[in-house]
Amino acid sequence: MSLHVHQRAADFHAACEAVRRRGGRIGFVPTMGALHEGHLKLCDAARARANSVAVSIFVNPTQFGPNEDFARYPRTLERDLEACKSRGVEHVFTPSVEEMYPKNDRTRVRVEGLTEGLCGPKRPGHFEGVATIVAKLFLAAGPCLAIFGRKDYQQLKVIERMARDLLFPVTVQGHATIREADGLALSSRNVYLSPEQRNTARQIPAALAAAVRRFAAGERRAAELRGPVEARLREAGLRLDYVELRGPDELDAIEDSAEVGERALLAVAAFAGSTRLIDNVVLGEDPAPEGAPE
Ligand code: AMP
Repeated sequence: MSLHVHQRAADFHAACEAVRRRGGRIGFVPTMGALHEGHLKLCDAARARANSVAVSIFVNPTQFGPNEDFARYPRTLERDLEACKSRGVEHVFTPSVEEMYPKNDRTRVRVEGLTEGLCGPKRPGHFEGVATIVAKLFLAAGPCLAIFGRKDYQQLKVIERMARDLLFPVTVQGHATIREADGLALSSRNVYLSPEQRNTARQIPAALAAAVRRFAAGERRAAELRGPVEARLREAGLRLDYVELRGPDELDAIEDSAEVGERALLAVAAFAGSTRLIDNVVLGEDPAPEGAPE
């Protein structure tokens, strides 16, 4: 199967339409490029459930804050295209900023409630940028199965809700977080880490794994599940943005004085140096991150 690269939304749309006209289903994986094994496992999952895999590669400026890493975000298009080819991807959509944001564009998509906690207040405008670009990408792709990683759990919930609320003919599916051998979640941003920071970052999956084990042993007190994660990450020298327990569907806050139910999202955002890392587990649903040190 050969790889087709499209820069224009109309061309990408026509290619996806042609697949559907032949009776095929598009499996769509939106990305910002700098593809790693996490992205490629999403492509494999798409191929397992669809006839033709489409990947978008677009570093979306509207989801970066003024002090974030838009300008220096890794861009490795040639390597990404090779990786796509090797994993049987049929269509890649690599639009320019001008293609996705026509001059004087004035339209944004905002998902309420789900974006008010966790990364929302820490990254003002981020989820509006994400929802807006994903809406445009869904319109460009047309009816499809779209796969998103659970590493960005809040993003997954925001996109699921947007697709439902706006009646997109798109099935949104989450995919388990793909991790390094020592448990660290794969991320395009891991390339920023010095060896020392990379070593410290291992404490994130380790702390989450310990919480999964406490939950499995019957612990339901929020403070006893959340507190040790925060303590361990601080001790490791990470600068915490948050360590929070939230309801896994509506992302409603769970106070330390409460008990968690059958399932609860335990989410972390922490800086190793100037690199912001996120990770999470859904207690009662996800296994402990494998390979993480005790
Ligand atoms: P990004 O290029 O970082 O915007 O990510 C594109 C897609 O890949 C999103 O759906 C992410 O959630 C997903 N993704 C990124 N890293 C991982 C990972 N380690 N495991 C699973 N999915 C991932």
